[in-house]
Amino acid sequence: MATNAYVTLVTNADYAMGATALMRSLSLTGTHADRVVLHTGGVEATELEPLIALGCRLVPAELLPTSDAFNQRHQRDRLHANAPFTKGNKPAFHTPLDNFAKLRLWELTEYQRVVFIDADALVLRNIDKLFHYPEFSAAPNVYEGLADFHRMNSGVFVAAPSATTFDKMLTRLDQPDAFWKRTDQTFLQTFFPDWHGLPVTMNMLQYVWFNMPALWDWASVNVVHYQYEKPWETNHPKAAQLQPLIDLWHAYFRGEKIPKTTALKNPGVS
Ligand code: UDP
Ligand code: MN
Repeated sequence: MATNAYVTLVTNADYAMGATALMRSLSLTGTHADRVVLHTGGVEATELEPLIALGCRLVPAELLPTSDAFNQRHQRDRLHANAPFTKGNKPAFHTPLDNFAKLRLWELTEYQRVVFIDADALVLRNIDKLFHYPEFSAAPNVYEGLADFHRMNSGVFVAAPSATTFDKMLTRLDQPDAFWKRTDQTFLQTFFPDWHGLPVTMNMLQYVWFNMPALWDWASVNVVHYQYEKPWETNHPKAAQLQPLIDLWHAYFRGEKIPKTTALKNPGVS
């Protein structure tokens, strides 16, 4: 077994599709690190088969043992009511509470370093150098403007698995009245207040494509992250604006020839 691993999380059939495209993209980078899928009981065995065929290591993981009160505060309707999403839409199959199960990667102590990647992302070239980066490294949550640089995005990050860290996290997470409005992302930024910044190219958020096209330089984009609407959703409201990125995702998902990204023109760039 390798000492490093890429890890993702799937708790239902939709994110299993996402992970299939992600894991195929990772295998095409030529990495020798393990590719691990944490999966909960919400995923059927048949939905995991494509991931086994891609050579992934499947690791069963349950949701965290958080209190009923915590679970209720982070239940989808309640979270959306108390902390509305105003910039984009979360698909119906997105359950906020499930996000916290990412923290289970700290239990994978057989690995020295782990790079976690959301199941709604693609890796376009080898990023193994991230295994030499310290805990906790993540890119800023940039998709609208400069103010975004204050926040981190938890779709790609570097972590050092440790049972001690995992225990500390569970204690910190489920304090009385704790409400993490952007779930694991808010929690991780609070737990690692001096997080190390990765370049945005390590976690390029899809809204950059139409909000900040000048930042989108295919020659340097390593990871594309489809935050908010997912590329496999049918008729999503931003689909027309994101069509080239959606087509790219489908090529990875179906195992077709991958288009040359430099040929994917952004209408916002003259
Ligand atoms: N996830 C999951 N099931 C869910 C919600 C989230 O498996 O119901 C996992 C999946 O790996 C996903 C990640 O947690 O990519 C974070 O959620 P998402 O990517 O939808 O959030 P966004 O990037 O849109 O903020
Ligand atoms: Mn995501």
